[in-house]
Amino acid sequence: MTDLQHAIDMLAPARRIAVLSGAGMSAESGIPTFRGSHDSLWSRFDPMRLATADAWREDAALVWAWYRWRIALVADAQPHAGHRALVALARTRRVDVVTQNVDDLHERAGSMVQAHVHGSLLALRCFDCAQPHGAPLDAMVAADVPQRLAPPRCLHCGGQVRPGVVWFGEALPQQPWTNAQQAMQDCDALLVVGTSGLVQPAASLPALAHRRGVPVLEINPEPAGLARDPRLRFAASAAQLLPSLADQLC
Ligand code: NAD
Ligand code: ZN
Repeated sequence: MTDLQHAIDMLAPARRIAVLSGAGMSAESGIPTFRGSHDSLWSRFDPMRLATADAWREDAALVWAWYRWRIALVADAQPHAGHRALVALARTRRVDVVTQNVDDLHERAGSMVQAHVHGSLLALRCFDCAQPHGAPLDAMVAADVPQRLAPPRCLHCGGQVRPGVVWFGEALPQQPWTNAQQAMQDCDALLVVGTSGLVQPAASLPALAHRRGVPVLEINPEPAGLARDPRLRFAASAAQLLPSLADQLC
C-alpha cells in the first residue's frame, strides 16, 4: 500500500476535517516562511528587532517598513492549487481551517477560516489606544517599500498604527484560540500543513487531535514529526500533495 493510499483510507470516512496551516502553506505563493529554508525571513532579519512591542517602541519606522513590505508581498501574491484543493474538499465535507498565517490567501481562495491564531497583517489597529484602523493604505509594491517608513496615524488618538499580528511575548487573541481548540476537538481527521511546530502554543494543537485518536497527517518537505504515524508524514509541498488528496477524496 502506498503512503497516499494509506492517507486516503484514513481520511475518506472523515466527515469533518481540520486543517492547521503554517507559513509553508503560503510558500508556493511566494511568501517567505520564517524557518526551514535558506531565504526564510528569520535567516535575513532578527525577529527580536522586528516582532516585539519593545522593537516597535524603539524604532516603529523600522518595524512598520518590514510589515509594510510583507503586506505588499501578500497583496501581490495569489493562492495556489493547495489552497484551492481545500476549497474543493469543503464541498464534500466540513473543513475547519485554522491558520497561523497572517496573510489572507486561504480566504482569497474561497475558504472560510475558522481561526487566525496569530492575527492578521491587514487587521490594523492603534498601538496606543487599540482602536481598529479602517483607512486604506496607499498602494505600494514590495520592491518600492523603503527600509524605514513612518506608520500611519490613528484617526482617534493620533497614535501609531500597527499590524494586527501577535508579536513575541503577546497573548493570542482569545476567540480565535478557542475556535482553534474547538476545531481540534470536533474533527475526525487533522491535516497539518507547512508548520515547523516550533511556535507555542499553536504547536500544541495537533496533540489535542492525537489525544482523541483521530488520524493526523503532516504535509511538509521537511516533516517536523507532528504526525505520529510515519506513514502519514508526507515529505511533500502543499501545492503538490493537497490537490492529489482532494482529487481522491472529492
Ligand atoms: P515556520 O516558518 O516556522 O515553518 C515553516 C514550515 O513550512 C517549515 O517546517 C518548512 O519546512 C515548511 N514548508 C516550506 N515550504 C513548504 C511547502 N511548500 N509546503 C509545505 N510546507 C512547507 O512557520 P510556522 O510554523 O507557521 O510558524 C511561525 C510563525 O510564522 C507563525 O506565527 C506565522 O504567523 C508566521 N509567519 C506567517 C507567514 C504568513 O502568514 N504567510 C509567513 C511567515 C511566518
Ligand atoms: Zn489610537
